Amino acid sequence: MSRIRENLADIRARVANSLVNASRAGDEVVILAVSKQQSADAVEAAWRAGQRHFAENYLQEALAKLDRLGKLDIAWHFIGRIQSNKTRPIAERFGWVHTVDRARIALRLNEHRPVSLPPLNVLIQVNQAGETQKAGVAPSDVEALARLIVQQPRLRLAGLMTIPPVAEPPRSNAAYFHELSELRDRLHARGIATDALSMGMSADFETAIACGSTCVRIGTAIFGARTSAGG
Ligand SMILES: *Cc1c(COP(=O)(O)O)cnc(C)c1O
Repeated sequence: MSRIRENLADIRARVANSLVNASRAGDEVVILAVSKQQSADAVEAAWRAGQRHFAENYLQEALAKLDRLGKLDIAWHFIGRIQSNKTRPIAERFGWVHTVDRARIALRLNEHRPVSLPPLNVLIQVNQAGETQKAGVAPSDVEALARLIVQQPRLRLAGLMTIPPVAEPPRSNAAYFHELSELRDRLHARGIATDALSMGMSADFETAIACGSTCVRIGTAIFGARTSAGG
């Protein structure tokens, strides 16, 4: 578990360095620790090392961890595929959802977000390369979904998210990252204020930060290889 502390220190230093290289302010990037298929003990070890934002992909696995770690001050992000019959626990238990990709999901999250909680922070997942195996809306459909989301009182449109195609070398994803940033700027120009760009993972987060990322989602570089067990 001390490896997790070292890895986090290394990631923080690399994020800070990338921000300096991009002439950006030091607090502009949130590091999300992607804890899917990692144990609750691993999450707690990262928390003890100062990590506060965690992301999960699989709802059942996530809920077991949330139950066990309920006493820790953690901001939980959902970054997995959303089935429409699972929107209630997501809206009730998470603070952030990065993978909203259709109107039906947005409407159900709005309906299920408890009034006792602040509005749910949501990001629109964009499928930039038209990959059929991935979720996400086409770039041309982002604005319509954004307009629907900003009308929902229990949702806050936080920004856009992408998982670009696996690239070798990772730098070659820069074009996708730039495109997501331009999509966000186009929303601004059309009167939809939204800021976050959730882009960059273990292999390419430095490139993503150079392209304006405000939220990097990092799993293996913090926790090591995934076990598949989780829980
Ligand atoms: C698993 C996952 C990550 C983390 O990937 P690593 O390569 O382990 O950093 C980031 N984003 C999403 C959406 C994921 O599913």
